[in-house]
Amino acid sequence: MENCIFCKIVAGEIPSPRLYEDEKMIVIRDIQPKAKLHYLCIPKNHFALLSEMDGEKAEIVKHCFQVIPTLEKALGLEGGYRVIVNQGENGGQTVRHLHIHLLGGEKLGDF
Ligand code: 5GP
Ligand code: ZN
Repeated sequence: MENCIFCKIVAGEIPSPRLYEDEKMIVIRDIQPKAKLHYLCIPKNHFALLSEMDGEKAEIVKHCFQVIPTLEKALGLEGGYRVIVNQGENGGQTVRHLHIHLLGGEKLGDF
């Protein structure tokens, strides 16, 4: 997808160290961390919203949620973490390529 920053990261056009990668997703650090540890799980396929999910995209999102718990130790998230998927304008989504925030490494405040 043209001009999508996460597509460019997935394609390697914007360098960003990958803490995990498989055929469907990557995990990188958020460039502006909002917690001591802040990661982004980014599906390799471009789509913006959960409402755009067809069967294939639903499988990708399911895959992400199955893999994330297996990475807890490697990412330093054993103490617990918060999972956030911002959706659209009111949800504060700034990058219109679906991604899953993982926040942890400290006791998070209420939201
Ligand atoms: P959103 O607000 O769309 O839910 O989250 C987008 C996130 O992507 C933000 O937390 C922002 O800091 C992060 N981000 C934006 N551009 C880049 C980038 O080039 N590299 C990385 N690693 N994170 C980015
Ligand atoms: Zn994209």
